[in-house]
Amino acid sequence: MTEKVALAVCETYWYAEVEKAVAELFAVWGGVSALVSPGETVLLKPNIVEGLPPERAVTTHPEIVRAVIRQVKQAGAKPVVGESPGVSGTRKAAERCGIWAVCQEEGVELLLFEEATPVAFPDGKMIKKFSLAKDLYSVDKVISLAKMKTHTFMDITGGVKNLFGFIVGADKAQFHLRLKCRSEFAAMLVDLNQLVAPIFYLVDGVVGMEGNGPRNGIPKQAGLLLGGTNGFAVDLVMADVMGFPAEKLPVAAEAIRQGVTAGLSAIERTGSARNVKVPFVRPRNLESLDGRLPSWFVSFGQQQLTARPAIESNCVGCSRCVRHCPPQAMVIKEGKAVIDYSRCIRCYCCQELCPHNAVSLREGFILRGVRRGIRWLR
Ligand code: SF4
Ligand code: SF4
Repeated sequence: MTEKVALAVCETYWYAEVEKAVAELFAVWGGVSALVSPGETVLLKPNIVEGLPPERAVTTHPEIVRAVIRQVKQAGAKPVVGESPGVSGTRKAAERCGIWAVCQEEGVELLLFEEATPVAFPDGKMIKKFSLAKDLYSVDKVISLAKMKTHTFMDITGGVKNLFGFIVGADKAQFHLRLKCRSEFAAMLVDLNQLVAPIFYLVDGVVGMEGNGPRNGIPKQAGLLLGGTNGFAVDLVMADVMGFPAEKLPVAAEAIRQGVTAGLSAIERTGSARNVKVPFVRPRNLESLDGRLPSWFVSFGQQQLTARPAIESNCVGCSRCVRHCPPQAMVIKEGKAVIDYSRCIRCYCCQELCPHNAVSLREGFILRGVRRGIRWLR
């Protein structure tokens, strides 16, 4: 069966332009009224990994959230917004990124995802039991409102990874501890998306992020929105637009293996931006090794084959990374963060969350050697 992904040109966050582009996406599926029923409560889940101003391109832009809120209202349903950021509380983070102001102006409740509830998922391939935000079970439907960004651990973060925000606060670290390998983490995300099953995935690519995302990369104008009812298909197209080997990225590879998307060739692109391609710089992780080495070798050699986090001289010793390092492999010594590499699992949470961009990624000699070998063979 052909899957459909819509792409709409949207060059700026001027509201009238955003509203038109959002309407163009939903129109492909008959409008929001074809996806929700009057009286239903619809949870809009933006990406608020951390409360930073919209121009940093870390969070879903507030005008996108506003446009979808209005679409849901027009369909006679009740929109609410919810998220559990990686750092700080939801209310504070939403204030800083402008989404709280939109909720206030539009008269919409912000769900704080403070409490988790256990949820059995017997069909899960990797995880049979999740612990998810209790607020999820007070709504009828979910729409994922993600940001088009690179991600040092998973290569990209779009609609599918956005649902990791349903894991409440510090519980997120437990998944990094349990699922150290990218393919395992990807399988967990596939399970999570099957369980939550949003009715629509919209990705804000007006200004995305390239390089070492999802927090410390560089804003990149892509000038489009993407959307569709199959999040794996939406993210596949997003990665392809970014110029990445879309089907080889961990989540896409797992989704194709499980048959929850048929792959790029089975996806029909539609809309005013259907031919747009905007090459993004990839993060320095396993990048060119994906698909070039057997997966068992990559899993086995994760420590040697991945770039190591390194603390730079601009570290101010704030200890945020220490607090969030899943295996507690970091301490502050003489006012700077120090990493115990024997315990580091290469999750890059420190790089992601450092407010001073003081964690860089460095390749070890084995990774450099493998990379040179691949170049020599080509
Ligand atoms: S590396 Fe960043 S987060 Fe960690 S202590 Fe230094 S400044 Fe803070
Ligand atoms: S040091 Fe950084 S990359 Fe290593 S485990 Fe801790 S947070 Fe993850």
